[in-house]
Order: sequence, then C-alpha cells, then structure tokens
Amino acid sequence: MKITEEKFIKDYQDRMMAMYSMAIPEASKAQQYRVLASVVRDYYAKDWQQTRTKYEKQDRKQIYYFSIEFLPGRFLTQNMLNLGITDVVLSGLQKLGLKYNEIAGREPDPGLGNGGLGRLGSAFLDSAASEGVALNGNSIRYQYGLFKQDFVNGYQVELPDDWLRNGNAWEVRKENRACVVHFGGNVWLKEDSLGHLRAVYEHTNDVIAVPYDIGIVGYKNNVVNTMRLWSAELPFNADQRYTLAEKQQVNDITEVLYPDDSNYEGRLLRLKQEYFFVSAGIQSIVRAYRKTHRNFNEFSQKVGIHINDTHPAMAVAELMRILMDEEFLGWDRAWNITTQVMSYTNHTLLAEALETWPEDMFAKTVPRIYQIIQEIDHRFRQKMVPIHGAELVSSVAPIQDGQVRMAYLAVIGSHSVNGVAKLHTELLQSSVLNGLYQIYPEKFNNKTNGVTMRRWLLVANPRLSHLLNEAIGTDWQRHPDALRAFKVLTQDKTILQKLGDVKHKNKRELATQIQEQLGIKVNTHALFDVQIKRLHAYKRQLLHALYIIDEYLQIKDGKKLTVPRVHIFAAKAAPSYYYAKEIIKLINALADLINHDPEVNNQLKIVFIPNYGVSIAEKIIPAADVSEQISLAGKEASGTSNMKLMANGAITLATLDGANIEIKDAVGSDNIVTFGMTVDEVENFNFYQSAQIYKTNARIHRILDTLVDGTIPDITTEGRDIFNSLVQYNDQYFVLADYDSYVQAQEKISQLYQDRYDWYQMSAQNIAASGRFASDYTIQRYAEDIWHVKIEDPAE
Ligand SMILES: *Cc1c(COP(=O)(O)O)cnc(C)c1O
Repeated sequence: MKITEEKFIKDYQDRMMAMYSMAIPEASKAQQYRVLASVVRDYYAKDWQQTRTKYEKQDRKQIYYFSIEFLPGRFLTQNMLNLGITDVVLSGLQKLGLKYNEIAGREPDPGLGNGGLGRLGSAFLDSAASEGVALNGNSIRYQYGLFKQDFVNGYQVELPDDWLRNGNAWEVRKENRACVVHFGGNVWLKEDSLGHLRAVYEHTNDVIAVPYDIGIVGYKNNVVNTMRLWSAELPFNADQRYTLAEKQQVNDITEVLYPDDSNYEGRLLRLKQEYFFVSAGIQSIVRAYRKTHRNFNEFSQKVGIHINDTHPAMAVAELMRILMDEEFLGWDRAWNITTQVMSYTNHTLLAEALETWPEDMFAKTVPRIYQIIQEIDHRFRQKMVPIHGAELVSSVAPIQDGQVRMAYLAVIGSHSVNGVAKLHTELLQSSVLNGLYQIYPEKFNNKTNGVTMRRWLLVANPRLSHLLNEAIGTDWQRHPDALRAFKVLTQDKTILQKLGDVKHKNKRELATQIQEQLGIKVNTHALFDVQIKRLHAYKRQLLHALYIIDEYLQIKDGKKLTVPRVHIFAAKAAPSYYYAKEIIKLINALADLINHDPEVNNQLKIVFIPNYGVSIAEKIIPAADVSEQISLAGKEASGTSNMKLMANGAITLATLDGANIEIKDAVGSDNIVTFGMTVDEVENFNFYQSAQIYKTNARIHRILDTLVDGTIPDITTEGRDIFNSLVQYNDQYFVLADYDSYVQAQEKISQLYQDRYDWYQMSAQNIAASGRFASDYTIQRYAEDIWHVKIEDPAE
C-alpha cells in the first residue's frame, strides 16, 4: 500500500474523529499519540495477516523465542521507519500543525524487561523480521513493569511503573486463543480403555492464559512477525464464583515484572510465572501445528523453541507432557522430538544466578512437570553413569540435593547450547557447564550478542545516520557490515569535522535535557564519560566513582584536570540489593558535593539520570565520548551497551571481559583503551589482600578515607559499608586490584581527547568496525546453525 502525505493527513483526521469525536487541536498530546499509533498500526495490519497466511501456506518452520523479558523500547518511531513512512508522516503532521517529537514522547516504554537480557530478545525479534526469519516472541504481559526510579536525597525510590494505564496501542487481545494452565493439585496415571496411560488431574487451580499479540515490523520487507504476551485471568466458567482473594491470586501471576537482573527475587510467584508463560506458549504452538498436520512426524522440522536463559527451561518438560499426556506419544519418541525442537542460550557466569528450585516447592506447584523431570533425571543417570561415572553425572543431573536445577535441565533437553560471547562460551565449557560439556561437547556453540543498528543509529542518532548516508550511501541500514566503507574516510578532514559537529550537537541536546530535568548545567566541550547499565557490584560502577573522587581531590589540590569531564550514569538497582543502592547513594552524594563546589567550576560534573530505560539510552548513547565497560574479567557474559556505544562513535574503556575482547579485535588495539586483570589473572590471584593495598597505596588510601571521614556529605552508613566491603571484606570484585591500571587507562583517554583530530579518527574507526555486532548477523547465525531455517531473500 502506497501511503501518500494526503492519505496520511486524511487518515489521521478521520481516526481522530472516530476515536475521540474531536478536532485535532482539542485533543491532548496523549490522545494525539494514540491516534497516530492507531493509524500506523493500520498501515501494517494487512502485512501482518499476510505474513501469517504466507507462513501457513508455505508450511514454514516457525521458531518461538521464549523469554521472561523483552525490552522493546517505544514502537512508534521504529515502526514508521521500518514501514518506510517516516517522511510522509512527519510532513503530514507538520501540515496538521502538530509536533512529532511531542507526540512521540507520550508513548510509554513497555514495562516488559529489566535490561540486557530483554533488550537482546527485542533486538532479535527486530532483526529476524527484517531478515525474513519466522521468529515469534513468547512472554508475559506484565501489568506493572520494573519500577520507575526516582531519587530522594540521593536514595533510590521505587515507584510503580503503570505503563498500561492508558492502554497499549500496539497490542491485540485474542481471547479466542486462550489456554488453560493447571497449577497444583494431584496428578496420577490411569489406564484408559485403549490401554493408554492417561494423566488425571485432581483439585488443580486453573488459570486462563489470554494472549495479547504485538506486531513486529520488519525493515521495509512487508514482513510482520508476532510477539505474544500472556495475561492471567480467572476461568470463564460462569457457574463458579470466586472470592476476591482467589481473583487476586490469579491476577498476581502477571502483575509484576521481577526486578531481577541476575538474582534477588520472590520465589513461588516467580515459579508460577515461569510455568504460566511456558505452558500457554507450548499449548498454542502445538495447537497451531495441529491445525495443518495430522501427526507429529514433522513437528521437529516445523517448530523450533528457543529457551532464552533458564526461566523458560520448563519448556522441555511441558512439551514432553503435552506429547505424552495429550497426544499419546511414547516417552522415547516424545523425547526425541523434544530435544530436536529445543535450544538454549545461557546468559550468565554468576553461580548465584543459575536458577534452582527446592524440590518440595516445585512438586507442589507443578506436580506433573515435576514427575516428568524426575523421569528425565532417572533416565539421564541410567544412560550416563556407565559412561561417565556417578560423580560427574550427579554433579550435573537435573535433580540433586533437594534442588531442581534449571540450567542442567535446559542443556539435557536441548540439541544446542550457546554462550553469548567467545570468552563466555569458553568459560561455560571450562567451568560453569563443564560437566555437561564433557558429556555433550557437540551441543555447545558460541553466538556473540548483537544490537540493532536501525534503532541505535537510525532512530536514536539521526544526525550520525544522515552523515553516514551522505558519506557511504544507505546500504549499511540493511547490511550493517557496509559501515566498513566509512573506514577509508577516517583520513578525510571534512568528514571528521562533520563527525565532531554531530557529536557536539548530540551533546548539546543531551545537555539541554539534563538542564531541564535535573537543573545541572554541563559543559558540552567536556568529555562525556558514560556508564549506563544495571547497577551491580560486578559491573563496578564503584571503580568509576572512586576515580571521580580521585579527580576531585586533584582539583582540591589545585591541579587542573587534563580534560574537563562530565560523568554520566544511569542505572537501576534491584530493590532488595542493598549494596547496589548504597553505591547509587554514594554517586549522588558525590554529585551533590562536586556539582556545587565553586572550586571545581567547569572541570568536573556528575550526572546520574534517573529511571534508566531504552528511551533514555537513546538520548545518552549518541552523546557519549567514552563508553565505560569495566566489569571484573570473567563476570559479564557479553554486554551489549558496549556495542551500541561503539556504533555511535564512543571510545570504549574496557576490561578484557565479555564482548569487549571481540570489540578490541574488530577495531584494533589503537582504537580502544583496555586495562585490568585478565580472566586468567583473576583466577590465579589466590592470595589477594585488599587491606594491604589500602595500607600501602597512598593514593587509594586517601580516596577510601573520603568515604568515612566526612569529606563526602551524608553517607555515614553507605560510606562505611562500602569502605568495609573494599578493605575489611577483601573486595570481592577486585576494585582496588584494578585501580591503578584503570587510572592509567583514564589518563590515556584524557591524553587522546586533547587531540580532537586523532580522537575523531578513532571514533570513526569504531563506527566503521561496529557493523559486525549487528543483531542481523547474530540472528543469521542462530537461524543457520541452531534453528536450521533458511533466510528469506527480502527481494522475493
Ligand atoms: C543495552 C541495554 C542494556 C544492557 O546494557 P549492558 O551494559 O550490556 O549491561 C540494559 N538496559 C537498557 C535499557 C539497554 O538499552
């Protein structure tokens, strides 16, 4: 369908009348947004239906990406871009007297994810649609997202994120596709008249899962895939009455997103959430397959199910349950199909983040799933003990020591297991999943994460995108590897000048927002030093904060900083993660001290932007000069903000962790600044004594003393706790061990920044080398190596 400006204007006016019976100027900005979203949705409605019928007609293999989080960010601008209607809509709105930015700003960020894990899922959905891969998301429609973060006296305060309050313009409720999910009760097996063993469920608590579908629009290729989100409701059964408490129990299941980036959670409800979206998702997959197939002979050729992190690992047992209890396949056949269908991505090396469930809780909540996992465990041991010995096998069996271990279940039940960066996959094989690697080496493979350049360049950084289009054409938008062409232009003075202008304009725009929102005036000629990510001890925001104290002390000593800096943070801490919240308070207290000290003047500023999320990232990343990726080596599985920042021309300041290593390989060691211990050095550092460093290193001594001597205002408790963790409790994340090396790296950054020509040359090298980190390529590798589906040529 060709959308002209005239058509858009008429559609917009008509829709405003149909939805609100109002003339355009009478409507609020939020209403103007909803009308626009509704019109844009119409423009892909037909493609959505046709994508579905085309897949059905071709009997294309469907992949289902099960993830307890997605983090899509706003849809409006991305959808307009992918539909190729941005110019028409912008000029149409202008003729209608409307300002696009004001309207688009009314769209809430969907509250469906925490951080990197969810963002990766959304990048994959975007890339898959754009590459013509039939990938469908499956998750939960959380009523409340991760909390909205505010600071009061520098402390994190959590407010409800009521993101659905005004409805969600992009979703379609499909109650005709609802499923029933059984919790609790008793299950026993009974032989029926045909001799089948049938599972009989008694006294279960049934919950209805109602799907809400959101269209995922591919980039200018008429493909619209589906992200399906499940909402829990009471059974429709009219003759049954429910108490308010029972109603509440059901609502609770999809009420909140756990603010859990790796650990810290409310157990039982979380378990219910996991089974809820897994069971509903698999039921709907089997139902869709059954519409066009009479038996399960082709199931594994037509369906792939991807387990993103351990939360959906029950998918293994749920598919077994349906194949056996409802479709009457025998164990061996069902197991064969299941392991061919399932694939699993591990996302963490933190031992405390590998999910386990107490057996009794698990047995009570999902009794049939528990029985099936017991049987998986039993057969696994029976088969593997004679080959590998009892010790190794029980160390990785799904049930052991009263715990159900989800990562092991996922590996055993899948044909493919991947890590998310080269280093991470190596470490999975050598340590976290070593036992299973010994048993199933052929299952393991690496798929380094990626990011979508269409969101992080085209949507977030139109100025840089425009420059790239001018310099190298538009091919990079569909084939991000084409950014390489920018490399030969890194010698071109006019291009570098323009690149510098783009960065400076982006910095001015961010500075304006900071001034308006936080009342802090920042120097846009200062170096913007950016660390944006969830707050976690292993990510070491504290290391960065100690360096800021160091800079402050230098200024107080009467020295001038080599380059003035603006340190920009954005990060949420899990509400129960006390230590992370103390670090937030420290950084805010430092900001208070430093931003108001007249001696510091224009040399140093700290900005902690509250409520980090995709939309805020889209503002900060284009304005970043330096990208802080300073986790302790061996802790960050991959990282993806490192890739987004690189693509936007920031210079990475990094430890040799996660994908930073691959970034270094891509851009060359002259165009990145690395520091700190390697994984091997961390592992072999057996006699670390942080108190010794405090004693003997005068610089560190002086910095740490400011935490407890009143230099930094209002951190009596926090300063003491942080001091103790670093000195008394031996600094678990080796902050002090890496400190001197970090200072040297920061000094190198300052030196480099003084020569702007060289700096922008490095910046351009980073942009040019970033294409390989596009999720388009990651998804191609998943499609070919794991899911065994063909990439459709978009030209067809
Ligand atoms: C990319 C992204 C992340 C992941 O950041 P890391 O630095 O890789 O941990 C988290 N949150 C948001 C909103 C993001 O866009």
